[in-house]
Amino acid sequence: MMVYLDNNATTALDPGVADKMAGYLREHFGNPSSLYPIGRQAKEMLNEAREHVARALGTTKSEIFFTGSGTEADNQAILGVLDAAPDKREFVTSTIEHPAVQETGVYLEAKGYRVTYVPVDKFGVIDLDALRDALTPQTALVSVMFANNEIGTIQPIEEIVRIAHDKGVLVHTDAVQAFGKLAFSTEELGVDLLSVSSHKIYGPKGVGALFIRKGTPIRPFLHGGHQERGLRAGTENTVGIVGFGEAARILPEKFPQDKVRIDALAARLRAGIGAIPKVHFNGHPETRIKSTLSCSFLGLESEAVLLSLATKEIYVSTGSACSEDADEVSHVLLAIGLRPEIARSTVRMSLGRFNTDADIDIVLRELPDVVAKLRKISAFDPDDLD
Ligand code: PLP
Repeated sequence: MMVYLDNNATTALDPGVADKMAGYLREHFGNPSSLYPIGRQAKEMLNEAREHVARALGTTKSEIFFTGSGTEADNQAILGVLDAAPDKREFVTSTIEHPAVQETGVYLEAKGYRVTYVPVDKFGVIDLDALRDALTPQTALVSVMFANNEIGTIQPIEEIVRIAHDKGVLVHTDAVQAFGKLAFSTEELGVDLLSVSSHKIYGPKGVGALFIRKGTPIRPFLHGGHQERGLRAGTENTVGIVGFGEAARILPEKFPQDKVRIDALAARLRAGIGAIPKVHFNGHPETRIKSTLSCSFLGLESEAVLLSLATKEIYVSTGSACSEDADEVSHVLLAIGLRPEIARSTVRMSLGRFNTDADIDIVLRELPDVVAKLRKISAFDPDDLD
């Protein structure tokens, strides 16, 4: 039996979402921009989906724009706001962002922008004083992620908004990992822009959305037709958006029960792993997405743990899925102060809606053995790393 513990990388489709998409694929093919009935029907379905995403985020559908991914939503938010403020040449972000934001910062630096990466503490919480100091009259935008994909730490977004707005600076948050795992609304947060992605909430891959508060100056970065009210040219991924809408529609119904159940499973898993010698956990002990467990198995290579578990059909990750191929140490783990050799021993387990008690039984039966066997053949002495 497969035990899937990589829900931060992607989630399985909810069966209700799959049914909705299958029905749509068979019966509808109209272009939402066409004026005859099958086109109007497609447009109607897009608007329904927009309503569901808006409701799940506590906003209205006029502020929701569909994109081709969470990555695209992040890029659109950052590049679009900076493009609309040509006389402001500064962008402020953090040292632990997902590559979708971090690499956009690197791109902006190459274009001559001043980009500040505000540091975080050992739990991954942003330094608010350093953030305050980084903001100048030239700063167009602050972008700080809501919850971190590798360690789960949650940022004080409301405080970040207060600090930035006091200085007249707009705020974007990448809420890709928070959506579906935390209860929040764009209204409470007060952010100007917020990114989400369908495949992290049991919807299909290749669809995201950007919340843009009414009146926020922003320019498109895809040019062409008038789709998404001129912000995102290109014929819409209708079936994907319909699936995303359905995933967002059922989210508020399932969230309260899911959260209690998943958090309890994660607590059990964490306690079991904590009993293995020479393991430590990363991320904030409390202000964290509880279903994300970042565990350093001192003295081991994370790939060895991952591959050994994979032979037992237990699927975990060595960090974010996006850096899985890169032969480099996680910038997030380095930013919280882990030594590179400890960062390299770190495995992420992330739970979701379809995990069960039986999954945790299996992991807790297999993992101690895997770790003990690997330690026996490891060249490192974990005592040297403590
Ligand atoms: N931001 C965060 C925090 C993520 O975890 C991810 C996905 O891993 C993304 C952005 C990118 O989303 P997408 O896979 O839809 O491009």
